[in-house]
Amino acid sequence: MSEFQIITPALLEAFERIVGKTHVLTAQRVEADVYADYGRDHTEDLHFEPGVVLRPANAEEISQIVRLCHENYLPITPRGAGTGLSGGALPIHKGVVISTERLNKIIEIDERNLQATVEPGVVNEVFQNAVKEVGLFYPPDPASKGSCFLGGNLAHSSGGPKAVKYGTTKDYVLNLQVVLPTGDIIWTAANTLKNSTGYNLTQLMVGSEGTLGIITKVVFRLLPYPQHNILMLVPFRREEQAAEAVAAVFRAGIIPSGMEFMEREAIAWSSDYLKIPLTLPEDIRAHLLIELDGQDLDQLYKEAEQVYGVLEGYDVGEILLADNATQKDELWKIRRNIGNSVRYNSVYKEEDTVVPRAELPTLLRGVKEIGARYGFKSVCYGHAGDGNLHVNIIRGNLTDEQWNVGLRQPISEIFELCVKLGGTISGEHGIGLVQKGYIGIALKEANLNLMRGIKQVFDPHGIMNPGKIF
Ligand SMILES: Cc1cc2nc3c(=O)[nH]c(=O)nc-3n(C[C@H](O)[C@H](O)[C@H](O)COP(=O)(O)OP(=O)(O)OC[C@H]3O[C@@H](n4cnc5c(N)ncnc54)[C@H](O)[C@@H]3O)c2cc1C
Repeated sequence: MSEFQIITPALLEAFERIVGKTHVLTAQRVEADVYADYGRDHTEDLHFEPGVVLRPANAEEISQIVRLCHENYLPITPRGAGTGLSGGALPIHKGVVISTERLNKIIEIDERNLQATVEPGVVNEVFQNAVKEVGLFYPPDPASKGSCFLGGNLAHSSGGPKAVKYGTTKDYVLNLQVVLPTGDIIWTAANTLKNSTGYNLTQLMVGSEGTLGIITKVVFRLLPYPQHNILMLVPFRREEQAAEAVAAVFRAGIIPSGMEFMEREAIAWSSDYLKIPLTLPEDIRAHLLIELDGQDLDQLYKEAEQVYGVLEGYDVGEILLADNATQKDELWKIRRNIGNSVRYNSVYKEEDTVVPRAELPTLLRGVKEIGARYGFKSVCYGHAGDGNLHVNIIRGNLTDEQWNVGLRQPISEIFELCVKLGGTISGEHGIGLVQKGYIGIALKEANLNLMRGIKQVFDPHGIMNPGKIF
């Protein structure tokens, strides 16, 4: 890696000429808590103070900033909304934070082609609502959809509850405008549904965690909005049976539009946090939240009956069929706020494990067994239909030594189990800072060398989000 330089007064002035003085933030110019926020995301309680925060308005300004940083060996941390869970947006080398918050325009919704062109600082839910108004559907919906940005979603290849039927962010992107680490601006592809023209630079950028460039415009494909949905909350008396039922529903020929697993504490903490009352009988250990959607309600009821048929084979309590929009919203709200409620209860480490879905019961059993052996508590939930289990390790009363060093071995064992089961160490949160020490469990040296080579070609001075992934 290159030797990074510091930000001189002359460089600060140059940044001011590019973005305007009000959009150059330093520790001296803004309130301490506002500035501190640019140095953290949702990863544990980590914080790194930025050297300077810049809030450019467009790709051209970003290009000028990046060119200056390239020439002067200044590290850059691209930043979306800071909801990431792997420390990707943390400015660990100080340097320049480039916030995309002002690139927040929906440029065009093209109803003829079912496409939209947007800037990366648009909040996911704002975009979903805007396309819904014209009868269109943008499915990727991270549980953080009310705050996370589309640029962050692309940089992490984020998923969400709907991924089980509709795929993740990567499945909706057609073309990206990117400012490369040298300052050059490119488009990666074309606005077409298919493209067989050279290497797939679009998908290379997706999931690259801000290490290969800054995404400044996106062309997404859209779908017609599904008119109907059915939502059911299914209580199970044994956690493992809930995990087993997931694959059984798919084997019965049903593809739900949501299939979320929540162990008892996850749903209890979230409903308490939101103050939404929920009856949880003593013997219930876990829930599945199952959603079916489509254009034909009669067909959905037939599918719901099939799901009930599958569930007869398990020890389930009374199934709650949400019968109005408010009840559905509340159930989804509880699911979406599990992460926030865990954070409210304790500092935590979130491991984003993913395995082929039928291996979920083995993974869950293994996580609990490892926790019991090493003496830590975990709260598990996640996008079970994708085999994606979020393992939240609760700090509770663990000492600094236990938290920072002692957990490395058990986390490695959890990840080794994922790989043994045919899975990997992150399904949607990325590697960023906190998982990079474990990447060798999932990827061979040959894979990592290819990635390092790609990074070198894109970013010869190593300035773009250094210290992440590798
Ligand atoms: C309560 C909660 C629930 C969550 N639920 C989900 C979920 O269901 N599914 C899921 O996948 N994730 C989930 N997340 C994680 C997080 O919201 C996602 O990873 C999200 O995509 C991050 O977006 P952001 O705008 O906050 O990005 P940030 O945290 O700001 O940045 C994330 C990464 O993207 C890079 N980046 C940001 N913008 C750009 C850009 N324009 N160009 C290049 N790189 C860029 C940053 O450098 C960083 O590496 C959840 C988080 C929370 C707190």
